[in-house]
Amino acid sequence: MADPSLDPTAYEFVRPARMRQVLEETPIVFLPVGCVEYHGPHLPLGVDMLTADNLCHRTAAVTGGVVLPPLWLASGVLPLPHGIVVDVTVLRSVVRPVLRQLAEGGFKAIVVFSGHGALDHLHVLREETDRLMDEFPDVNALTTVWNELNAGMEGDIHDHGAKVETSYLMEFHPHTVDLTTLEDDPEAEHVGVYAANPRFTASREWGEIMSEHAVGRLARIIEGFSDGERADSWVMLRQLVERLQAGDLEIVEDSGRIRDGSVSFELYNPHPQSKYITAVSWLAVDGHQVDLSGATLANPSVGEGHTDVPVERLGPLTGFYIRRDQRMVITLPQARIGSGDHEVEARFVLADVLEIGAQGSLRA
Ligand SMILES: [Zn+2]
Repeated sequence: MADPSLDPTAYEFVRPARMRQVLEETPIVFLPVGCVEYHGPHLPLGVDMLTADNLCHRTAAVTGGVVLPPLWLASGVLPLPHGIVVDVTVLRSVVRPVLRQLAEGGFKAIVVFSGHGALDHLHVLREETDRLMDEFPDVNALTTVWNELNAGMEGDIHDHGAKVETSYLMEFHPHTVDLTTLEDDPEAEHVGVYAANPRFTASREWGEIMSEHAVGRLARIIEGFSDGERADSWVMLRQLVERLQAGDLEIVEDSGRIRDGSVSFELYNPHPQSKYITAVSWLAVDGHQVDLSGATLANPSVGEGHTDVPVERLGPLTGFYIRRDQRMVITLPQARIGSGDHEVEARFVLADVLEIGAQGSLRA
């Protein structure tokens, strides 16, 4: 194994004279952010921070600059064994002074690179890099993620614990991946793995292709800063959400329940990727708009555990996940409909940047 101190881009191994040279010639710093989170039986818990860390070092090898040790604090970590989650306010209170001191220390390009894709976590990081640019107008501060950097690429570029994340680890740390812990059946499902069984899909080659693409795109963005371009942490998010989360939800026809005047029914996500709902724009039954006060969402799937989330409390930091093949239950205390067949129509906002719908008949 190569001694990590031999990497000339590792902040913690750089002596002051070399750091002065970096600040003079290529004042670029990367902060990899990840988490420890369950990703299935075949992957180490640090997948997210390891992926971010490796992609930062590979980018720094192209652009110059230095990479801080990865930060493993994150919000939005799945409630599965061995994960550690902190509140978004903790993340913010750590990241804000770190970014400010990097800017005060003379860095002109600051890249917060997340290996963890939870959208509340990313929203806080984006807000903090934007805030830093307001405070330091000569600094470019960018928040990005591996899947956003590859949003324009053909093939699978996003999942949890499946082909994509497994392939990255096979490329970076192959000895940490054990595909034999996965069932020898392409159809088998595993907790924490949100796509087809990676035993049959992941490869080191795909990890290498994704890495090269992500590094190339990030290096071009950073090089653009020298030509006067400003960092924009939202443009790639829009591109990614349009690619991954577009497509309507389905209303589960026979799921309607009326109890004590309140109506509940299920919506199904037939698409291969998760949707992160940050608002319910409106909902109508038989053409009449329903008052959403008191309305709640629930996702009863294993590993989610979200029950009775008030629709009024949804937002970019408090979004609601409905993943591939999952159903969510919406409960409407103000719907006031009778039993029988109804037409339902609804609009949802995803990740604060994209609107989708749901339309269909409901038997209650
Ligand atoms: Zn991950």
